[in-house]
Amino acid sequence: IPGRTNLCSNPSVSTPIDLPPSNPSDIHSSLDSLDLEGYIIFHDVHNASKDFGNRYQLPPLAILHPKSVSDVSTVMRHIGSTTNLTVAARGHGHSLQGQALAHQGVVINMESLPSPGIKIHKGKQSYVDVSGGELWINILRETLKTGLSPKSWTDYLHLTVGGTLSNAGISGQAFKHGPQINNVYQLEIVTGKGEVVTCSQKRNSELFHSVLGGLGQFGIITRARISLGPAPHMVKWIRVLYSDFSAFSRDQEHLISKDNAFDYVEGFVIINRTDILNNWRSSSFTPSDSTKASQFKSHGKTLYCLEVVKYFNSEEANSMNNQETEKLLSELSYIPSTLFSSEVTYIEFLDRVHTAEMKLRAKGLWEVPHPWLNLLIPKSRILNFADKVFNGIVTSNHNGPILIYPVNQSKWNKHTSLITPNEDIFYLVAFLPSAVPKSSGGNDLEYLLRQNQRVLSFCEEANMDVKQYLPHYETQREWRSHFGERWETFAKRKHKYDPLGILAPGQRIFRRAS
Ligand code: FAD
Repeated sequence: IPGRTNLCSNPSVSTPIDLPPSNPSDIHSSLDSLDLEGYIIFHDVHNASKDFGNRYQLPPLAILHPKSVSDVSTVMRHIGSTTNLTVAARGHGHSLQGQALAHQGVVINMESLPSPGIKIHKGKQSYVDVSGGELWINILRETLKTGLSPKSWTDYLHLTVGGTLSNAGISGQAFKHGPQINNVYQLEIVTGKGEVVTCSQKRNSELFHSVLGGLGQFGIITRARISLGPAPHMVKWIRVLYSDFSAFSRDQEHLISKDNAFDYVEGFVIINRTDILNNWRSSSFTPSDSTKASQFKSHGKTLYCLEVVKYFNSEEANSMNNQETEKLLSELSYIPSTLFSSEVTYIEFLDRVHTAEMKLRAKGLWEVPHPWLNLLIPKSRILNFADKVFNGIVTSNHNGPILIYPVNQSKWNKHTSLITPNEDIFYLVAFLPSAVPKSSGGNDLEYLLRQNQRVLSFCEEANMDVKQYLPHYETQREWRSHFGERWETFAKRKHKYDPLGILAPGQRIFRRAS
């Protein structure tokens, strides 16, 4: 949607922000004259004008490829001295609605910022120091060489540290270790004023907590110290099916209440599909009872798949695990003929979505619009939500997966900027469709956007205290309502660390002061 109007506003300012720069050639030459180790380009900005969501085209004026923290700081200070330029740190550009774009502003390509080597510290508290533009897959590969690994992940690893820490970084390990923002010891930040600040729980803690889950509003993460734990060699990966949502969610909640049951707990919804078990077989999942599994028929019913993983290092440990796992599974109420399992390496498991990406790319189905919707739903409302949404509003998931799993936030750090529902247990429900032309038999973008709107309207009418994850709003009223009583603190911190509203304009929360 080129040239859309930006409706969001700073509490103290009320003019639109998509202003053209006062004089582009002056801006070019002033940026060009900066003394940098890296470089700035003004052409070939196409890639930085879009994101994974593939719905917005908002070209920047320039792209900085920084080679040092001082480059980032120099450019931030310079932009503070202009009248209306903005800056977006761009990680891997896997946002969905233009959050990493800066229309007619400057995009900082964070992947250019070199890691000073990925530095691993082994000790009582092991950690790794990485650049904010480092991809999680590279961190995994490097840390595995020392037998260590980060503890908390996203389902997809071709994302940057700065990009996921600006949101939360949630996956099936989050019930146990908290999201990725819970697993950071220290950050180096370039604030909206161009100051370089090191911060942690104890040092400059307000900035530390503001930036974590802070939607890029307070500063640019140039370095992060990530907590590490022992890495397993292998994982046992198990899937079972339910036709009754309340049994499914009861079992998920039971499993996340036990720290030592599984190392990963997720789940997904299957609506109007008949081929599901055959798909699993072809992807090397084996049924525990193949005769019974072949007799299973879903008859188009909505099904719920519980997905759990147990880490192990040796065959001996695996057989001990198997006894415990069997006991745990015997406590669950899944459909008995639908138990499937697989054993893969830890890295194969963690990098699983990349395997799916390669297949989709080969079919030309990766670079299509992605009208994704991620919601955090309080436990007390999940039955109502599932009943209405999975058996009414959403009539198929042919366009992409629908993930659903609970997390227990009693262990999560409550001081970060992340906004979650006000209950200890809430569910992440992620609708992850790819829009395709109607002629190909799937649902197109318009249809999927309407469906998202129906889900959101239902949540609002039912007064569910649902929060969007990776939030996207058009109006100030919606942002205020998202933050609730924490809005004033968020706005006050914005004023402190980025008083001119330079950073992350694509989130559409604040506008650049002139
Ligand atoms: P970008 O899209 O480049 O940036 C995102 C935001 O962060 C922007 O506002 C940007 O300005 C800001 N930003 C980027 N780098 C920095 C920095 N160094 N300092 C400060 N601000 C910065 N999320 C989950 O939690 N769990 C998942 O399982 C998960 N799976 C995903 C799977 C896929 C296929 C995709 C496309 C996304 C998934 N996400 C998931 C969402 C993902 O975590 C976010 O979209 C994340 O922001 C993407 O990282 P990125 O490096 O591409 O960030």
